[in-house]
Amino acid sequence: MATTEPRTEDVRWDLSDLCADADEARAGWAALVERAAEFASRYRGRIGALDASGLRALFEEADELGQEHSRLQVYTFLRLSMDATDVEANDLTTIGRDRSAEIENDLVFVGLEWIALDDDVAEQVLASPELAPYTHKLRVEREEKPYVLTEAEEQALNARRPVVSSWQALHDRQVSTLEVPFDEGDGESPHTVSELLSCLYRPNRTIRLAALDALFGGLSPRADVLAACYDALVGDRLGIDRLRGFEDPMQPTNMNNELDGETVEAMLTATEEAYGIGRKWYTAKARLLGLERLELADQYAPIGEARAFSWPEAVEVVDTSFGRFSPRLAEIFKACLGAGHVDAGPRPGKAPGAYCTAVSKQILPYVLMNFTNRLRDVSTLAHEFGHATHNVLALEKQTWRSHRCGIPMAEVPSTFAQALADDYLLENESDTGTRAALAADRLENSFAAIYRQTVLARFEQRAYALRMQGLALGVERLNELWTEENTKYYGDALVLPTDYAYGWTYIPHFIHVRFYTYAYSFAQLVALLLYRRYREDPEAFAPKYLDLLSAGGSASPADLVAPFGLDLRSTDTWREAFAELDAMRVNAETLSGA
Ligand SMILES: [Zn+2]
Repeated sequence: MATTEPRTEDVRWDLSDLCADADEARAGWAALVERAAEFASRYRGRIGALDASGLRALFEEADELGQEHSRLQVYTFLRLSMDATDVEANDLTTIGRDRSAEIENDLVFVGLEWIALDDDVAEQVLASPELAPYTHKLRVEREEKPYVLTEAEEQALNARRPVVSSWQALHDRQVSTLEVPFDEGDGESPHTVSELLSCLYRPNRTIRLAALDALFGGLSPRADVLAACYDALVGDRLGIDRLRGFEDPMQPTNMNNELDGETVEAMLTATEEAYGIGRKWYTAKARLLGLERLELADQYAPIGEARAFSWPEAVEVVDTSFGRFSPRLAEIFKACLGAGHVDAGPRPGKAPGAYCTAVSKQILPYVLMNFTNRLRDVSTLAHEFGHATHNVLALEKQTWRSHRCGIPMAEVPSTFAQALADDYLLENESDTGTRAALAADRLENSFAAIYRQTVLARFEQRAYALRMQGLALGVERLNELWTEENTKYYGDALVLPTDYAYGWTYIPHFIHVRFYTYAYSFAQLVALLLYRRYREDPEAFAPKYLDLLSAGGSASPADLVAPFGLDLRSTDTWREAFAELDAMRVNAETLSGA
């Protein structure tokens, strides 16, 4: 089978399912602007007067407009991902940005008028079975109602957006323009923050230690400006929270994630209780590397030497591991591959990294990756197809408006899919270096998602608490908080260099979306819990899991996982996830010979 599979560089997107060409896209944008305006002229000011079937018709039509919008946006975005210098694609991006603003302006009344309805009127229509496919999302939208201000107040708040963006842009520029002279062994050259960070995965310890020094040596002179940006943004957010009536700085993020404060706190507390699992691994890793104690620069040092994987091998791993779990998942994987919806190989000008993007109910999702024959690339392929299978199944069963869920649940199927592929590899791989690398990578990726993101969330909580007491968030204070929260995690299992106090400086989430990070901990832990249930009873689990994928965003995370017997508000639930994580640690130690 493998020999008939194409080479990586031949696996490229066929965008014809999206648009024939740029002319069609331009015509599509123009037509969509007209349709949105016409839709608005028919419905604006009338939402309160519609009965359930009238509302259903409105939401169905809005869904059609939404999917057409998605088709055009994805086409433009993918063209740009294939070649950042493509002139036509850049023109389409400008057109898309302008047209999207017009379309969104025309459609914004739907949400506003829906929220403005009196509770008893809204409840009456929501009780109708005709609105059932939309009920959950419509209820969630209305939860914002107590925090929405008058139109004039909202406009005044919107008017200060450019200033907020300027603080964010200043922060981003300070980080992205930083270049530090550094020698990776082939002569000194300017290195960016992300280039220095990637040196931490190198096998050469001298390079790792020097890269960390160079990183914080470069960042520390900019810390004052970076702290000022953070202080301004935190102060601004807290001021608006007071006006809107939010009681807790985490509340807006929690509401977006459809998680309550109690659930998030139970998760964070259980995670802190389980920091010891991380410390045990770092102690074992020091032994493996022949060190008395691990330093921060050794945290991501590679364990084991993984062999190379060909593209056909990667396809086989995902196909088989998905297929033995559920033939439906493998079917979707092969349908996307067969339709030319995967772009596999790296090329000059192509976007870095990997992603999966949903398009519409009619069009299969598209996946981008940069496959370079590494073991990690096989996991990435499985990860992105965790997203793709979720998209396809949710769009089959749900409306466009209710198929999508927030980041906490969206990253669960991708993490789960990676575990399916990793387990399959561990069962079938005979090369000991590859097995060790796989087990260690998997464990350390879980630590990065679960522990590091929790440290970040605790740091943010304390920063907001200090600012609420009227204390300015200066460099010294942030350095202190950062060091304290990190020390709680690493304990004395790992030596933190003094300069690591500046570790908060370059993290974009603090600046762009507060408390964004705990969603990653959540997704990893829920995926671990589900995987545990799967191993306990594979037969009963698979159909229930497909139902979870098909449910998309039509229920809250708590309701989505309830059929698996998971109570997210209970610390015990989260403790169970750590039993699973600890088993992964033991496995990694065994396979690496620690
Ligand atoms: Zn993902």
